[in-house]
Amino acid sequence: MVPPMTMDYQSPLRLKLDRDALISNYRWLKQLCDGAACGAAIKANGYGLGAVEVMRHLLDAGCRDFFVATWAEAQAIEPLLRDFEGRAGLSVLHGVRAEDMEIALASRARPVLNSAQQIARWKEAGGGPCDVMIDTGMNRLGLSLNDLDLSLFDGLKVDVLMSHLVNAEEDQPLNDVQRTLFMQARGQIPAQRYSLANSAGLCLGRDYHFDLTRPGLALYGGIAHPACEGSIRPVVTPQAEILQRRTVCGGEAVGRGADYVAHRTMETATINLGYADGYSRIISGMGAAMKDGARLPVIGRVSMDLLSIDVMDKPELREGDWVDIDYDLSMTSLLAGISQYELLAGLGQRFDRYWV
Ligand SMILES: *Cc1c(COP(=O)(O)O)cnc(C)c1O
Repeated sequence: MVPPMTMDYQSPLRLKLDRDALISNYRWLKQLCDGAACGAAIKANGYGLGAVEVMRHLLDAGCRDFFVATWAEAQAIEPLLRDFEGRAGLSVLHGVRAEDMEIALASRARPVLNSAQQIARWKEAGGGPCDVMIDTGMNRLGLSLNDLDLSLFDGLKVDVLMSHLVNAEEDQPLNDVQRTLFMQARGQIPAQRYSLANSAGLCLGRDYHFDLTRPGLALYGGIAHPACEGSIRPVVTPQAEILQRRTVCGGEAVGRGADYVAHRTMETATINLGYADGYSRIISGMGAAMKDGARLPVIGRVSMDLLSIDVMDKPELREGDWVDIDYDLSMTSLLAGISQYELLAGLGQRFDRYWV
């Protein structure tokens, strides 16, 4: 008989998520804002952590402004918005396509209108309050300031007028260029609130905060800017179960492609984690699992669902035991050349996510 799908399945792969660290990161960012409101980007399922749970915890911490990319993401959060009716807002960054309109008009979330067409579409449908994105140098999404027709805004109820910084993680002239353009737009386009800064932008100081900031990465433990070092706490720890422990003789290979050959007899453990879970093959050879402070290096190639670690120093580890995965975001990013954003957002669907 096929077991019912409702049976509690416990994955051999978990993401341990630290609520206190998330809230502590939020408070640290909020205190930097010095009076401006501090929102939260929770797109891409809360950067891989789980958008609903992240939003719940941040609501507890006093956060009231949230940002997702798509209407599907907004719908997943709609129940929480209902519970906080009128007290928390959600913005959908990618705006409204024609096929989004029905959902958007029924939703409590606001679209972030990015183009003249989107504004026309929203006005024509009699849509309520909205946000507007303007482009100040990213050339990705948003109204271009060059040939801006201000009559577009007639009759439009703009809550947040926003723009997005290109590269605030680095101290470079473009930050100030974008800030200046944004100030000019603020003088021309009426809105309830103005918002420019992401995590890194928030670290650039009060001039960048305006009324509302929109951090993402730093909330989840990313070192978005050197100023985060020592203050932003890690939130995410992947954990994997040992599926098998083996003895490998000198001269034998470990893993796909025989990339690794044991030079002497050694002990390995095979764990339930691979690139399909977001643990990139590029981390092969530099990653490690951790157990009680001991570092257990990844050996051989990371496969789709499996990898091997060296457990020579941990004779007591066996099948069914769990190990933590070293997932220091800035170090892994530096060594593997994978951005901290990708390291988080790539964390797959096979993890059981649990908050401590
Ligand atoms: C993702 C995103 C953010 C958050 O950026 P971080 O660099 O993760 O802090 C803010 N604003 C917009 C428009 C975004 O798309």
